[in-house]
Amino acid sequence: MLKLSQKVESLPSSPSMAISSQAKKMKSEGIDVIDLSIGEPDFNTPEHIIDAAMAAAKAGATKYTVPAGNESLRKAIAQKFKQDNELDYTVAEITTGVGAKQLIFNAFMATLESGDEVVVPTPCWVSYGDIVALHGGVPVYVPCSEAVGFKLTPEALRQSITAKTRWLIINSPGNPTGAVYSRAELEALGEVLQDFPEVLVMSDEIYEHIILTGVPFVSFAQACPYLKDRMLIINGVSKSYAMTGWRLGYAAGPEKLIGGMNKLESQSCTSATSVAQAAAQAALLGDQDCVRQARQTFVDRLATIRSELAIVPELTLSSVPDGAFYLFLGCQSLIGRRTAEGKVLDSDAAVSGFLLNAAKVATVPGAAFGMSPYVRLSFATDPALVVKALKNIRSAIDGLA
Ligand code: PLP
Repeated sequence: MLKLSQKVESLPSSPSMAISSQAKKMKSEGIDVIDLSIGEPDFNTPEHIIDAAMAAAKAGATKYTVPAGNESLRKAIAQKFKQDNELDYTVAEITTGVGAKQLIFNAFMATLESGDEVVVPTPCWVSYGDIVALHGGVPVYVPCSEAVGFKLTPEALRQSITAKTRWLIINSPGNPTGAVYSRAELEALGEVLQDFPEVLVMSDEIYEHIILTGVPFVSFAQACPYLKDRMLIINGVSKSYAMTGWRLGYAAGPEKLIGGMNKLESQSCTSATSVAQAAAQAALLGDQDCVRQARQTFVDRLATIRSELAIVPELTLSSVPDGAFYLFLGCQSLIGRRTAEGKVLDSDAAVSGFLLNAAKVATVPGAAFGMSPYVRLSFATDPALVVKALKNIRSAIDGLA
């Protein structure tokens, strides 16, 4: 009998990808499902980026590149850090990979020994903990409730650090809550970290450009320059330029860590795809109007959806998300309700399953992000569809006992 390794046997598939696949399957069976589970912009990659990729392919950019990615791309990334974040990185301190996800994977593979702890404030992106565990690490989840804006406090950080702590992950703007850390909040975390010089910091800034309110984005390294020699910034073009399928992420950090990640890249993917590298270079160096337009689109959508949200008071929004394109909605009042078939909604996973079956709306349960009872709705989709989804949810809830 074919056997998988123990570590793969115990590895779950990404829950959000699994729900999205289920929604796609239902659609292929002719069921009219509204998929609000996915975390990707619904618009096309801007034309000038696609043109640059096509031109690069025609000009022969179809060969292997060095594992870190073409120097011209890394120079463009260095320029982006300088312009947007007032940060200085050399090309040797920058690497690229097959999406931010692969860089997170490589960073943990390059640094974790069995039993090393990684502090993960929750609610958090679905994959951090599983990637940590796959590499022998122990995710230490630190609940950050609505009351603290879903953000890690300096006190909670201090309490979560032990002699085994290797990393802290901060994701701002955050998935699934849209919480954005202010400069002062980052500085307060930085102050705690000064007492723990062995702890590395991963700052996942993939939603940097998707800011929905007046709260400004500040990079962790910009707020705490003294952490730069132990901080890895994770970013990429997926969310800012509607380029999820191109699979191109980038990271900046200490040369030794970047070197370790490059070694892993050379033994796994060789490099990110050459044509995607050309596309990312064009995205970063080109006109940033597309980024501004995308941001405005999300701001407008949020306004439309918020005004319609009142029709489903059972789903509660504690505060307006400052960034990203998700609503993390409390569903406490649905817990304990009974479906027409007699099934009790005993968890947010059950609520999410009910919404899929009865309202034909795909959402991701809070449990996938480490905090219950919530459901996450993505509004990286046509707002008319989101409004239709809310109406479907209303009717489905009205059918509950
Ligand atoms: N980090 C966060 C917080 C995300 O939400 C995602 C994707 O959903 C990623 C990283 C991965 O991004 P990429 O498409 O670059 O792999």
